[in-house]
Amino acid sequence: MIMNLQQIRSDFPILSRTVYGKPLVYLDNGATTQKPRCVVESIVDEYYSVNANVHRGVHFLSQKATELHESSRETVRRFINARSTNEIVFTRGTTESINLLVSSFGEALMQEGDEVILSVMEHHSNIVPWQLLAGRKGIKLRVIPMNDRGELLLDEYEKLFTPRTRMVGITQISNVLGTVNPVGEMIATAHAHNIPVVIDAAQSIPHIAVDVQQLDADFLVFSAHKVYGPTGVGVLYGKETWLDRLPPYQGGGEMIRHVSFEHTTFNELPFKFEAGTPDYIGTTGLAKALDYVTAIGIDHIAAYEHGLTDYATRRLQEIPHIRIFGEAARKGSVISFLVGNIHHFDMGTLLDRLGIAVRTGHHCAQPLMQRLGIEGTVRASFALYNTREEIDALVAGIERVSKMFS
Ligand code: PMP
Repeated sequence: MIMNLQQIRSDFPILSRTVYGKPLVYLDNGATTQKPRCVVESIVDEYYSVNANVHRGVHFLSQKATELHESSRETVRRFINARSTNEIVFTRGTTESINLLVSSFGEALMQEGDEVILSVMEHHSNIVPWQLLAGRKGIKLRVIPMNDRGELLLDEYEKLFTPRTRMVGITQISNVLGTVNPVGEMIATAHAHNIPVVIDAAQSIPHIAVDVQQLDADFLVFSAHKVYGPTGVGVLYGKETWLDRLPPYQGGGEMIRHVSFEHTTFNELPFKFEAGTPDYIGTTGLAKALDYVTAIGIDHIAAYEHGLTDYATRRLQEIPHIRIFGEAARKGSVISFLVGNIHHFDMGTLLDRLGIAVRTGHHCAQPLMQRLGIEGTVRASFALYNTREEIDALVAGIERVSKMFS
């Protein structure tokens, strides 16, 4: 199927609204994506016609809701090609998935003096949980450096492994630089040292095919809201052999088999990690979003967005005094930039007045900002519904703002 852009845009009602009387140009997809009608309708429909708590009920609606929730798990499994639905843990999002992993893995399998290897371009959500663990347990963080194009230095990465290394955490696509990291290769390196790897797929899952078996990822995390799904839902994928070894994260209902005041036995996978009522309506929304992406074809989306990002890069490079951060050989649909001495916040605010939504600031990657020697950038990030006309509007907007400052 060739992408029918007009049809796709009409699937997203918000795209036809105006902002300050101007057509909305939404280029903040790295922060969150807009939702197609089918996702929103699935949520409304389930509340109106199926709603009941899952897993516990003998009655009709509870069973229907449970079937929907568990079929969403199967949709996620298929989407990332996991071996089993036991490997799909529903969470609130990427951040909670990483916190779950760090907490359980750190608790069970790390000791004082152990080390975790992270890349310099990690989002705070793949740094701070490890730092909190470091505070509790005295583990150390070691950092994979990058070159000035924003590519990780694989030789340096290899040198970071020591007998105390216990885990590697890498983002598959940088939310600032757009770099697509060679995570398959990096996982193979870690496995040669018998070390597991967690992949932060928050920025990759909407844009490129992610196959956990092909990557041989031990853990992989993402958020529904960045892949056209609802907020408040995410996924922790973990190889069953690893998840079996990890203790529960939170205690409560759903995650237990038997409780007495003396002793509790835990439920099987994946429920051991899912305490309390899950966002079973949100998981339906996530499954609908993944079905939507699958119907268009992730490879079609990847090719389309690649063309769009190339076009945007070429057009942006025409702007005098622009600096683009991130020039990796393989880039996703994210472009970070600064123009002359114009503060990123001023650029973002003035573009907003033209109806153009971009993100400004440190993008929750302050260590990366430090490496780049800047405080923040303006970031345009694209999705399957963006157009070349919108890129032209961005470029015209930047030129207009630049003139105001010159
Ligand atoms: N990792 C990366 C690379 C991200 O871009 C983001 C979101 N900006 C996150 C993690 C955190 O995702 P969430 O806020 O949905 O938990």
